[in-house]
Amino acid sequence: MPTFVYMTRCDGCGHCVDICPSDIMHIDKTYRRALNIEPNMCWECYSCIKACPQNAIDCRGYADFAPLGHSVRVLREEEKGTISWRIKFRDGRTKDFVSPITTKPWGEAIPRLADLEVPDEEALNNQLLCSEPEALNIETGLPVIDKSKFKQGVYY
Ligand code: SF4
Ligand code: SF4
Repeated sequence: MPTFVYMTRCDGCGHCVDICPSDIMHIDKTYRRALNIEPNMCWECYSCIKACPQNAIDCRGYADFAPLGHSVRVLREEEKGTISWRIKFRDGRTKDFVSPITTKPWGEAIPRLADLEVPDEEALNNQLLCSEPEALNIETGLPVIDKSKFKQGVYY
């Protein structure tokens, strides 16, 4: 889902340009606003969306995720340490998804994997990834789907 910029919201700060790993966020020389110059080369990492202080960047959802006529808006709430994604369907229904983000202050180093404690046998055989669930801000552990919630014929 490549990104695009609402030029009327953008103030040309350039944060998205600095953070884009694909180097496709550029500042338009005439309008002094950002734009994605090559959506086909977008990594879909959404670093630009998360970094934009003006909430000026959105992504175009794929049809299987959000059919035609939808909008996907993102809200960055640093004080809560979350990113919220709101999908609005053309019939007016909305779905909200909240994702945790890192709460490390700018400039504070992320620990190197080599500096972490060596995992024991139990940790190696566990399905959790390194530092989960703490890194996801989920104190109660990862959510588990109850088999009874699956519709008949879907779960096997
Ligand atoms: Fe660049 Fe990632 Fe934004 Fe795509 S989603 S424009 S790759 S920062
Ligand atoms: Fe514009 Fe947002 Fe990019 Fe700043 S980070 S240049 S406000 S789109």
